Amino acid sequence: MIDTVRTVAALRARIAAWRAQAQGDAGATVALVPTMGALHNGHLALVHAARTRAKHVIVSLFVNPTQFGPNEDFTRYPRDEMADARALAAVKADLLYAPGAEEIYGEGFATTVTVGGEVSTDLEGAARPHHFVGVATVVSKLLNQAQADFAFFGEKDYQQLLVVRRLAADLDIPTRIVGVPTVRDVDGLALSSRNAYLSADERKIAPILYRTLRELGAAIEAAQGPTVVLIDRARASLLTAGFASIDYIELRDAETLAPVDSNDRPARLLAAVRLGKTRLIDNLAVTPRC
Ligand code: AMP
Repeated sequence: MIDTVRTVAALRARIAAWRAQAQGDAGATVALVPTMGALHNGHLALVHAARTRAKHVIVSLFVNPTQFGPNEDFTRYPRDEMADARALAAVKADLLYAPGAEEIYGEGFATTVTVGGEVSTDLEGAARPHHFVGVATVVSKLLNQAQADFAFFGEKDYQQLLVVRRLAADLDIPTRIVGVPTVRDVDGLALSSRNAYLSADERKIAPILYRTLRELGAAIEAAQGPTVVLIDRARASLLTAGFASIDYIELRDAETLAPVDSNDRPARLLAAVRLGKTRLIDNLAVTPRC
């Protein structure tokens, strides 16, 4: 079984012991992998990536209430700490940090972290108001609590990765933020804890999102002019395939998330769609024509 701590004090004591043992040895590096649990191979890929960069890997498990909207799935979000602990032991993570809400948001808690600008206000930020304030606040706390050398985040949540990079740079947090490519099922569906909500029929439709993004990405890479018509066509084909609605499907600058309407710089296709009652997000890199 994996060692588990539930307080900042215990977390810091463990990290201090690792660092003291190493006594300046360059191998005493520590990596943090923040998660909300219900772990799948996407999360475990972050642990593997962390293992290659750091001697000690901590996985945090906290279903952060403040990043869910009032009508979202906080109460029904899948939770299974025992299974998560077993999965982490199998991939040789060193420590599970699973604080309760009272440890993260103690009495009198009154501080939030807001990342401004396009990187957080648009797309997920527009579809889910307050989401990134919740994310930025809890990630700032986790980074500060662990003071790890590296922290690993999935490209699956591409906008979140950019928000975290921004806050770490702006708040002078020295932890290196590392992005890890999205892990997918064999049919292309990006692994997600929320895939558990899909019915058998919806699960058959779900991979069409990534297939559509790939086809759209290839069409944009081959296109000479504006991309808006191609995106409109992709939107229509997703609705025909059975997706209930589309929150957004957009081509954005890969660094700033500013809107992009031709294939002239590194860009990212980002999409959020609804399938039945489940909301799925995915994204894809689009390479400019040389
Ligand atoms: P979550 O538990 O959904 O908050 O995710 C925790 C971390 O795992 C985040 O950095 C996610 O971007 C990352 N993650 C989730 N799904 C995947 C995936 N399919 N591939 C890679 N990383 C992922």
